Amino acid sequence: MKIFNTMTNRKEEFIPINPKEVNMYVCGPTVYNFFHIGNGRTFIVFDAVRRYLEYRGYKVNFVQNFTDIDDKMIKKANEQSTTVKDIGDEYIAEYYKDADALNIKRATVNPRATEFIDEIIAFVKELVEKGYAYEVDGDVYFSTKKFKSYGKLSGQNLDELKAGASERVNLDEKKNDPMDFAVWKSQKPGEPAWQSPWGMGRPGWHIECSCMAHKLLGDTIDIHAGGEDLVFPHHENEIAQSESRTGKPFANYWMHSAFINIDNKKMSKSLNNFFTAREMLQKYNSDVIRLFMLAGHYRTQLNFSIELLDSTKVSLERLYNAISNLENLLEEVKRQNLNDDEREYTKNLDSYRDKYIEKMDDDFNTADAVSVIFDLVRDINSNVNAGSSKDLVVYSLNLIKELGEPLGILQKTTKGSLEEEIENLIAARQQARKDKNWALSDKIRDDLKSRGIVLEDTPQGVRWKKA
Ligand code: AMP
Ligand code: ZN
Repeated sequence: MKIFNTMTNRKEEFIPINPKEVNMYVCGPTVYNFFHIGNGRTFIVFDAVRRYLEYRGYKVNFVQNFTDIDDKMIKKANEQSTTVKDIGDEYIAEYYKDADALNIKRATVNPRATEFIDEIIAFVKELVEKGYAYEVDGDVYFSTKKFKSYGKLSGQNLDELKAGASERVNLDEKKNDPMDFAVWKSQKPGEPAWQSPWGMGRPGWHIECSCMAHKLLGDTIDIHAGGEDLVFPHHENEIAQSESRTGKPFANYWMHSAFINIDNKKMSKSLNNFFTAREMLQKYNSDVIRLFMLAGHYRTQLNFSIELLDSTKVSLERLYNAISNLENLLEEVKRQNLNDDEREYTKNLDSYRDKYIEKMDDDFNTADAVSVIFDLVRDINSNVNAGSSKDLVVYSLNLIKELGEPLGILQKTTKGSLEEEIENLIAARQQARKDKNWALSDKIRDDLKSRGIVLEDTPQGVRWKKA
């Protein structure tokens, strides 16, 4: 299996430290808001990587953190007159709702930065003792020039980085060098803070990941991943801290997924050009959203539009139709066992699995893997029918689902996905009613009605049935 390693800028044979196990760390969300589908792409891509590694027989220890203390968290807590802890609790719960709905497997561990304060302080202390970090008035900075290979991930050297940074440098900062970065920040009025050898304060963002990855996965991890915007400075800084501390490589493979763009601009909260996963899930089921994401290569930027999602939905219908035909055939077919021709034909079916594995082994080429599934389905559509044996129908059905599983799609029966869509629409209508948006709630009801679904308000909640 080959993985494109950002560190070396090329595809490399993947050799995990333990032959049967993969330790993987993915930078997770800052939990001050719902996540948008740009973030969602990163989560879905690395969920597919994890699922595929599992499909290939590895045990994957998958750690994805929650950043639950930073400026955005503090701002949100102030706006809502609540605590940073409560904002974290609230949006972690919302994260799980959306991630579960997107069929993203739960991580082995989702550490929260604020649960690792003691370990972070110990980490910073060690950096100070080793001379890699220094304190100024309660702030602690990492001294980038002490770490000789600073810049190796993003392929820049310190002088180039400095030249690029010179306009952005804030002269008020107390650090010795513009490229140094904070590992510990002294408390400002009204901010949450913890006792430390440098006074009351809180951790910097980069040290959280270095610390939690080390604590949960050890000195060297197999795969460290995140969105491409994290290469610099976040991952560069994680490397500097971690490798200064241990003297060992922090991660053997660095994977970065490309952005989702809207009109060729990165989807982001700051540009206000985003769609939340929540709102997309009200209109599309997780298969549509995941197929849309995974039909592109993870290192290629993806332009988002509703039209593209709609056309993905139409293509997905082809797969659903094939599955539901096979499910119906199960009731119809007369013969149980494979005959000789069918036995031969299963070898042809198996060749799609081989092709799929070949594509996915090549740096998780989900785009080509998706095409293989469509080719497989076309083949099955023209060769499996009411004259086939039950075993062949089952074989075909299982293979489609098997190849869908690493992508996290096609796992429910077609009936299940329709039900899910209706439940989502009902939830959207309930929300619209709560918001007193009667126009929207009526529209959802009428749209469902035109599809032959009637809603009934009962004391137990909204029920639906086919008219
Ligand atoms: P944040 O909550 O902003 O810290 O981001 C969480 C994750 O989503 C990080 O790995 C980011 O790199 C990633 N991310 C943010 N915006 C986008 C985008 N437009 N497309 C893809 N990934 C993104
Ligand atoms: Zn991180």
